[in-house]
Amino acid sequence: MAALSVVIPSPAADAAHDAAHETLARFRHGAYSVPCDTCRAPAGTLCRSRRAVCTQRRAAYRERQQAVTLVPLLVGRAR
Ligand SMILES: [Zn+2]
Repeated sequence: MAALSVVIPSPAADAAHDAAHETLARFRHGAYSVPCDTCRAPAGTLCRSRRAVCTQRRAAYRERQQAVTLVPLLVGRAR
């Protein structure tokens, strides 16, 4: 049943999708935690193509995420 909303688009599903992206952006989750170099969107705001996050922004987030998670692991091991 969950896949039905993908097959049959509805205004409610559209609104839910928009709201999900807006919430993620507001709380700077995931790729929204970094600014976008492609469409110049600052951190915490949506990309110009509302429901899609630019590829470069995702890449920047993944790079930053690796740097963030790698350091505690190394520190924990050194103790
Ligand atoms: Zn963008």
